[in-house]
Amino acid sequence: MSEKVKVTNLVKTFGTNEVLKGINLTVQDNEVVVIIGPSGSGKSTLLRTLNKLEEPTSGSIVIDNTDIANKNVNMNTIRENIGMVFQHFNLFNNLTVGENIMLAPVELKKETKAEASKQAKQLLDTVGLKEKFSARVQSLSGGQQQRVAIARALAMNPDIMLFDEPTSALDPEMVGDVLEVMKDLAKKGMTMIVVTHEMGFAKEVADRVVFVDDGQILEQGTPDQIFGHPKNERLRDFLNKIL
Ligand code: ADP
Ligand code: MG
Repeated sequence: MSEKVKVTNLVKTFGTNEVLKGINLTVQDNEVVVIIGPSGSGKSTLLRTLNKLEEPTSGSIVIDNTDIANKNVNMNTIRENIGMVFQHFNLFNNLTVGENIMLAPVELKKETKAEASKQAKQLLDTVGLKEKFSARVQSLSGGQQQRVAIARALAMNPDIMLFDEPTSALDPEMVGDVLEVMKDLAKKGMTMIVVTHEMGFAKEVADRVVFVDDGQILEQGTPDQIFGHPKNERLRDFLNKIL
């Protein structure tokens, strides 16, 4: 096992609001870590600092032995290695499905259009949307759009994938297909950090579950420890409310 991500004493403030209050988190290669916790506890901010969408106020974030808090590190290189999937898909509605997936490989990795489109078609196949290459984004359901967003993130061949409540904006009947794609990815050995309220997914897929409350990690452990034998009072309260 090797360390993929090591977060040490990570603090993030917005103005006077201290949102992350000294987070320590290590993620191993091939590990699936699920982050749970109440709304407003800092889960999105934590993921966003890992991807440099937010600058840490203090602390260090080492990814593949590179401290990304270091100002000299090239942000594009970091983002090429870390895919991110958001709650609201964030696809380009004026482009086709295929164009969305090809955009970053062509612009950032300088792939030829032929290479990028071949890969886009393969990725669409793996997310169950083989026939949608030329479709307009708006013609797809939310669940289909989210699977396109996953394919788009994978097109950069990242070795870490971050998911921020990827199924929270979906109608219930669409959730399963998206979770299936994520399960497949986990099976293939992708290192994943997933913020979700889907406790079934956490129980089945997570190697480790991390409970964040008020900008701090209050407890972490295997799904069995966290769901079966929670120790922290606030974790127990949280689980009582959502299960
Ligand atoms: P969660 O994802 O757990 O719901 P967030 O990380 O989105 O929590 O938010 C944690 C806190 O940080 C909230 O109080 C939120 O208002 C604040 N926050 C998040 N992003 C910003 C921002 N860009 N500017 C100011 N405050 C922010
Ligand atoms: Mg959030």
